Amino acid sequence: MTDNTNLVKGNTGLWEVVIGLEVHAQVSSKAKLFSGSATEFGADPNTQVNFLDAGMPGMLPVINGYCVDQAIKTGLGLNGILNLVSVFDRKNYFYADLPTGYQISQFTRPIVTGGYLDIDLEDEKTKRVNLTRIHIEQDAGKSTHDLHPSLSYIDLNRAGIALMEIVSEPEMRSSQEAMAYVKKLRSILRYLGSCDGNMEQGSLRADANISLRRPGEPLGTRAEIKNVNSVRFLGQAIEYEIQRQLEILEDGGEIIQETRLFDHIKGETRSMRSKEDAHDYRYFPDPDLKPLILTQERIEKIRTTMPELPDDKKSRFINDYGLSPYDASVLVAEQETAFYYEDVVKASTSTDKRQAAKLIANWLISEVFGAMNKQSVSISSLPFKKNDLATLVDLIIDGTISGKIAKDVFIKMWETGKSPKDLVKDLGLQQISDPSIIEKTIEQILNDYPDKVADYREGKVQLFGFFVGLVMKVLQGKANPGLVNEILKKKL
Ligand code: ADP
Ligand code: MG
Repeated sequence: MTDNTNLVKGNTGLWEVVIGLEVHAQVSSKAKLFSGSATEFGADPNTQVNFLDAGMPGMLPVINGYCVDQAIKTGLGLNGILNLVSVFDRKNYFYADLPTGYQISQFTRPIVTGGYLDIDLEDEKTKRVNLTRIHIEQDAGKSTHDLHPSLSYIDLNRAGIALMEIVSEPEMRSSQEAMAYVKKLRSILRYLGSCDGNMEQGSLRADANISLRRPGEPLGTRAEIKNVNSVRFLGQAIEYEIQRQLEILEDGGEIIQETRLFDHIKGETRSMRSKEDAHDYRYFPDPDLKPLILTQERIEKIRTTMPELPDDKKSRFINDYGLSPYDASVLVAEQETAFYYEDVVKASTSTDKRQAAKLIANWLISEVFGAMNKQSVSISSLPFKKNDLATLVDLIIDGTISGKIAKDVFIKMWETGKSPKDLVKDLGLQQISDPSIIEKTIEQILNDYPDKVADYREGKVQLFGFFVGLVMKVLQGKANPGLVNEILKKKL
């Protein structure tokens, strides 16, 4: 529906899609933002709530320094400007799962201003999306309306957990770009360890702001789709919303600025409420909290703990190991996979490191990931040792076994956990690289098929494969293919 310039074709002409995302990322921290309550997911309702979280009068918030460090790390990882002074405000609204009647957030002075991330699109294209800001705020509790016919249930375990709200500029132009943005953001946050990125558990949620305009015109009125908790749903919600707005605008109608919800069962968005403006929230600085002051020293200390992030890792894999950009991006998407990959490369004893590294990448991406998917096994619980995978690849490189035999060895390795060397020995799979054995076999075959040999010599060169097949059959697939080709050519 969207063409490659990302414009949408309507009956009255072309439209440009404009998308800005607000992502709420739960900060990985054992304790909440302003209280010592635990944050673990899945605990029994209302077991991780203290007086402060429950909004009891007279309780005072105390900032959790670790959560602030996590936000600093995130700001650095997303290339933002860290503000040495930021301020906590009260955002006032009434809702049953917000016992204080206000959420502590940052409004006028967030901890991070600006920043950017490079999203990965098809055909190795990338696009830089700028960030407006990152601020710290509290999460609200959770209401459940479908457990009782006339009552709602409130669980305050989530109330007061630290969130980072990461706000993008309205720079995305298609659902694909928005999905790529969330994927990349999630990957970076996981690398940083500042948010676990588990969208199914609600620790990463996206609000999508969407509008349409004629190319070159000012921004149109947007609708906001709240709390989308999967990348796929985000794509579906945006596609639906583009169509909905397109129909209204093409009919000469107007988009109402409102908050909508995506119903993933019906595959549509529906209106939730008209959109509040900032003044509706009566923001004011929280009198219980002093401004948040960061020292340059604190920031620099955190900078020294920054991990290598996916883009840098990808370039390094391409440069150091000669990987294709595609293979490199598959391997760096999850930090754990990238670490695993490099451990195997290090364990290889092959003298040609680049050759080994490339082969290991192929093996991981096709054989290992394939088997992992089939067996629903994660990279942290593979049934064989990293060293054994390295050895398997080394055995291919030094010619002990062919790539084809290696696949059989791999299956056995997976099933038994035995080392590839033992398996090759036990199963007698060692490749035949003794030229005299191969030569004898070839001579025998050429004697058995004088007609075919004559045909070949008269120009029927496609018969070469026929002879190779016979040699392999006689030697049970174990002959060194390079040697078979070489000797066969000579003899023919
Ligand atoms: P809020 O939604 O809290 O009122 P903002 O007005 O700052 O906050 O906008 C939030 C998000 O909406 C940002 O990601 C911004 O890029 C995006 N946005 C703003 N205007 C538009 C628009 N006309 N179309 C699409 N996205 C927009
Ligand atoms: Mg918003």
